[in-house]
Amino acid sequence: MTRGIFYRYSGLSAFALMAAIYAVAGFLAIAFSGDAVGVVSIWPGSGVAIAALVIAPQRLAGWVLAGIAVGSAACNLSIEIGWRAALGFSLANALEPVIALRVARLLGVSHIHFERPRAVALIAISCMVSAAVSAVIAAILGGGWTLAFLCSWFLTASLGQLIFAPLILTVYQEHERIRRGERTLDYRSLALCLGAAAAICAAVFVQSSLPLLFLPILPVLHATYRHGILGGALAVGIVAVSSSLSIAFDTGPFHLLDSEVNTVFFAGVYLLTMLTAVLPLAATLAAGRTIFEEITLQKRYFELASQAARIGHWRIAIETNSLTWSDAMFRIHGWIPGSVAPSFATWIETYHREDRTRVTRLLEDCAMLGGEVAFDARIETASGETRHVECRGSAEYDQNGEVRAIFGILQDVTERVGIQHELEQARVRAEREARNARQLAETDPLTGIASRRRIMTLLEQATKRAVADGTDLTIAVMAIDHFKTINDRFGHATGDDVLRAVVQEAAEAMHPADAIGRIGGEEFLLVLDDIAIDEAEAIAERIRERIHAMTREHPELPEVTVSIGLAVHRASMQPGDLFRIADAALYAAKREGRNMMRVA
Ligand code: GH3
Ligand code: MG
Repeated sequence: MTRGIFYRYSGLSAFALMAAIYAVAGFLAIAFSGDAVGVVSIWPGSGVAIAALVIAPQRLAGWVLAGIAVGSAACNLSIEIGWRAALGFSLANALEPVIALRVARLLGVSHIHFERPRAVALIAISCMVSAAVSAVIAAILGGGWTLAFLCSWFLTASLGQLIFAPLILTVYQEHERIRRGERTLDYRSLALCLGAAAAICAAVFVQSSLPLLFLPILPVLHATYRHGILGGALAVGIVAVSSSLSIAFDTGPFHLLDSEVNTVFFAGVYLLTMLTAVLPLAATLAAGRTIFEEITLQKRYFELASQAARIGHWRIAIETNSLTWSDAMFRIHGWIPGSVAPSFATWIETYHREDRTRVTRLLEDCAMLGGEVAFDARIETASGETRHVECRGSAEYDQNGEVRAIFGILQDVTERVGIQHELEQARVRAEREARNARQLAETDPLTGIASRRRIMTLLEQATKRAVADGTDLTIAVMAIDHFKTINDRFGHATGDDVLRAVVQEAAEAMHPADAIGRIGGEEFLLVLDDIAIDEAEAIAERIRERIHAMTREHPELPEVTVSIGLAVHRASMQPGDLFRIADAALYAAKREGRNMMRVA
């Protein structure tokens, strides 16, 4: 609950204000009621009292009630009914709002408002109970125990409560809402509405020859329609003031009735009816308007979000085979938003030729079997551009469980697909480059055989295999004899040719499964896997001979020979050990005259 207007009031000022307001309301009522009857016909103070008690904070309730009692006493003493009756009436007036609010609470109305017919009815009952009780109190304490007095008190009090409490409270509550920013108010338009109401009321209530009482309902409904509860309550307030003035000045259609008492009661019931009809209607209108504004806003946000995400939504009505598209759907397809949605067949035609059959089948399956549909496809926009879309939908069913429609979304994912495509290409490029780099590192660029790194790895693997399987492993280290001299005499290019030719000869003499690698300038390592020493010796010898006889097939090359050192792997021998002893055998061959093979 927010702080109301009485929040800052001290007890004494609340008391004084209440007493003054109540007294003024009472004197006006007495003045307006004419002089034909002994007692007034509507007692606005009763409504003012309820409104004050609802608005005032709890701590001021006692002061407010005291103010009511004193204000009432001032009026009652002025009409010369004797002090005992005046005090009795004042007590009855002060108790009225307390009883009304207590009964309302008992009936389950915790918050006094007039926005729902049910609340209006329950509060009306509470007011009437309190008016009846106060009538009895007033009668006992000085009014006289007659039916006429009881009826008159009951009617004046309940009409006062039922007309003025809703008027004051509604205006106050609406004012609070506007202050808190929950409602807005177009003051100019409200002033125009109320001005129109005042003008019509003036016309209706100034004359007394035509019963034009139905006319004020028009500006009241208009004000209600335009400005909700506040407009309605204020317009009824204008009717109330106009009709009261007309009674006070003895004009107006109420005087078509025969007696003054009837006139005033009729006016009260007239106002009450208008108010009871208008307030719930206004509340419903206001609620509808709020919901409408909310929905409009939500729809706007939804459309903005859809646009940003490039998501459109669509719906296919199965029976009519007709399509509904959101604006975003048109934009994605490159069409003008808001045009007539295409037919199903035309939509299908926007899909890429290769995707059309699949998309049609998926949508038709969903239409027949229900459930969900999802596909990625390409569409061609109005400008001929190909775009990638992701489509998801699900079936809507009628009461018989038959598929009535498919509702779905479609997202333009072209950018994402583009990025994915680029990423994929980058991945392929990177893999290719890595493969090239690896190959480069593992291949000797001059001869195309395994690099030192690669052949050493192969040696290590072969060693492990030989240990694990207990198979034979022989290796050969081969070096060209006097290669320096060849370079010196025939040039480096010829030296290179010799290196390539030597490798070729060696490779042809080996088994295809065996490996050869270049371990340095003109030195090579041969891994003869699963080959016993006899066979290995034969191979090495074959290589040596072939190289020696190479000039027969390659007369352009100088004569070259090689020396070879062989070593057999024995258990517990590391690859390095094996290599070293083969190298030692190679040097033995060199030492002993070159162009020969030695076994370690
Ligand atoms: P030895 O019989 O004692 O082995 O005599 P050598 O002349 O072969 O002596 P050494 O092993 O010291 O000489 C190797 C030479 O191989 C030195 C270098 O110029 C040459 N060489 C190394 N790599 C290449 C290459 O890629 N191309 C060419 N053309 N020559 C190379
Ligand atoms: Mg050498």
